[in-house]
Amino acid sequence: MIVLGIETSCDETSVAVIKDGLLTANLISSQHFHKNFGGVVPELSSRAHLQIVNPLVKSALEKSSVKLEDIDLIAATAGPGLIGALLVGLTYAKGLSLSLNKKFVAVNHIEGHIFSGFLMEEKPEFPFLALVVSGGHTLLLLVKNFIEIYKLGSTVDDAAGEAFDKVSKLLGLGYPGGPKIQKAAEGGDAFRINFPIAELKEPYNFSFSGLKTAVLRYVQQQGGIQNLDEQHIKDIAASFQMAVIKALIQKLKRAIKSFDVKSVSIVGGVAANSLLKEKATELAYEFNNKIVIPRLEFCGDNAAMIAFRAQTLFESGITHKLDYKPYPALDENSFLSL
Ligand code: ATP
Ligand code: MG
Ligand code: FE
Repeated sequence: MIVLGIETSCDETSVAVIKDGLLTANLISSQHFHKNFGGVVPELSSRAHLQIVNPLVKSALEKSSVKLEDIDLIAATAGPGLIGALLVGLTYAKGLSLSLNKKFVAVNHIEGHIFSGFLMEEKPEFPFLALVVSGGHTLLLLVKNFIEIYKLGSTVDDAAGEAFDKVSKLLGLGYPGGPKIQKAAEGGDAFRINFPIAELKEPYNFSFSGLKTAVLRYVQQQGGIQNLDEQHIKDIAASFQMAVIKALIQKLKRAIKSFDVKSVSIVGGVAANSLLKEKATELAYEFNNKIVIPRLEFCGDNAAMIAFRAQTLFESGITHKLDYKPYPALDENSFLSL
């Protein structure tokens, strides 16, 4: 079976091919120009997707030695994401499905992230806990199989990645914030400033907006960013990063203790963070759980996870009609695109 996956939800155009269960191409074209604007500009994103999606499909097929007519299943991200950007990939996939008369599956981007650990050699074992930490979402989920996904908690305000991006901007480190903060934190003292970790009523929920404000207030108290030397900025970055990771690990530990799971999988862009990887691995070992953190290529946005998710849905008897609409936001209570 040959699956073609297309991802255009934000600022990465990506096309992947899975051939008889083997990933043969996962091409990712990142729209780096957004850094000049300090964040993703939706209109520019759509235009860039439009320009690159067709050549990328051609290259992915060539790389996989697959002809258009050999494809069995065509999949694209339907949401959540920027609506104009989603439309590009989704419409392209629908058009291809119509002209080739092949099955079509619309994939939920977050479900793509949830199962991205399956792209690794060492795969998660069911049931597993999934911590989704991306640019727009922070979710803790109990995943029983490819169909039963239960939400334990989510962020009540900012996503973890969003917090990294905002604090990076505030510290003048640039965009995207995650890698910049991580780099700065490498030379910093994580114990210099004790930033708060939000305590919430719901045991598995997260909150990062208070932390972001605490960093802002701290910088203001020092007389603004222009008053801080390089070392001080590194110390703030390290202390902030530590607070975010502590909050994530705290909730994950609670869930590991309460649910009898075999594996833990950390997914989404923030899963690229080395401190998070280190702390999560320690935690999993402590509780004798298998830990799966996808490699960099599968942590950020990629079409491999979209193609893989589509195949699991297809194998569960799920395909979609060509009038499937894109959606900007995640309905956290109904994960499956049933
Ligand atoms: P969503 O998946 O919620 O729609 P998205 O697709 O924009 O959002 P991803 O591409 O999965 O998100 O992840 C991007 C986020 O990951 C950004 O916020 C970025 O700052 C963060 N990130 C990337 N690398 C790191 C890192 N090393 N440490 C922390 N955060 C990181
Ligand atoms: Mg991105
Ligand atoms: Fe994503």
